[in-house]
Amino acid sequence: MIIAIDGPAGAGKSTIAKLVAQRLSMIYIDTGAMYRAFTYELIKNSVSVDDLNAVLTTLENTNIDFKDNKILINNEDVSDKIRSKEVTSKVSEVSAIMEVRVKLVSMQRSIANKKDSVLDGRDIGTVVFPFADLKIYLTASVNVRAVRRYNEISPYDKSADIREIEKSIEQRDFYDSNREVSPLKKADDAFEIDTSNLTINEVVENILELTKEISDNEFV
Ligand code: C5P
Repeated sequence: MIIAIDGPAGAGKSTIAKLVAQRLSMIYIDTGAMYRAFTYELIKNSVSVDDLNAVLTTLENTNIDFKDNKILINNEDVSDKIRSKEVTSKVSEVSAIMEVRVKLVSMQRSIANKKDSVLDGRDIGTVVFPFADLKIYLTASVNVRAVRRYNEISPYDKSADIREIEKSIEQRDFYDSNREVSPLKKADDAFEIDTSNLTINEVVENILELTKEISDNEFV
């Protein structure tokens, strides 16, 4: 079984996807973390996104793995480092490169084809698994998404600023929705859930209910 959860930045996809996967004993694949990890690798090696040859050479020499809920790039645990402001500000540009997407999408398919999986990202229901059993498109207003992100990071980042976060979310949404290759888009057959006024638990229950309906229908 494949459950695809797509949507814009900060809509709560990873929190929800993780919980849904736990409840259904499925594996969770955070595809955004893969684009972030590769972006981190480029920054670490001082490779400019504009130098396509160097990007492609780095891509060839890059191995991404998930192990014990950690993401490893060439065996380095980068689970925390990929959340930095620098990675966040560059990841959309990196993920718009077709060759990068081809490699990461093929990795995503090969992991998910081995086990029942919940994947979250931008193009899961449209490109990676267009025949997913269930497709969810999670949204929330930009302001709600910025407040959530602020609450998450302000305890350890005293310089966190709501307006700045809101701007960065808007920029990333614009870039992700307007790129040529696999832009962020709701699949026609996805269920859209606006999480602005819902608790995490309500969203999870909603998705579990949809999953149940789909499984019941398969046996009719
Ligand atoms: O989900 P998260 O915000 O961590 O994703 C980081 C970035 O990775 C997104 O802004 C987008 O540019 C890219 N991404 C993508 N396709 C996916 C998942 C993420 O292009 N399936």
